[in-house]
Amino acid sequence: MNDLRDLYQEVIFDHNRSPRNFGMLEHPTHQAHGVNPLCGDELTVSLVLDKGGVIEDLLFEGRGCAISTASASIMTEILKGLSVPEADRYFDAFHAMATGQTPSQTDLPALTKLEVLSGVRDYPARVKCATLAWHTVRAALHNVSASVTTE
Ligand code: ZN
Repeated sequence: MNDLRDLYQEVIFDHNRSPRNFGMLEHPTHQAHGVNPLCGDELTVSLVLDKGGVIEDLLFEGRGCAISTASASIMTEILKGLSVPEADRYFDAFHAMATGQTPSQTDLPALTKLEVLSGVRDYPARVKCATLAWHTVRAALHNVSASVTTE
């Protein structure tokens, strides 16, 4: 279990050090801004949905703690190429996992990628860091609001 925890930390450090898909799209079809005032995490998600409703491109930009940055980075890797309903399933599954519930959809192929962030369930304040990017991308995809806050 300690080995696993070390591995998870290693993955988080790696994504924090060199975040994937970092930046802003020039012509996004959807965009949202998210803040987690408790920790000071802030990020903007910009994405392009193609005509078929598939996430063609997805970038994030912002600054925050290692957990929020790593979570956003991993999220962009997972969601690129997925349809909106598929992205929603990941949101639900990740949210359940981060809050200590058993995800109902365990058949999601990339859920194991998110396992590295499952340690946050022991730290309620960190759950908001880990889920910020997900709340933000969900707001962007559904045009709920141009900005979200975890508070
Ligand atoms: Zn944070």
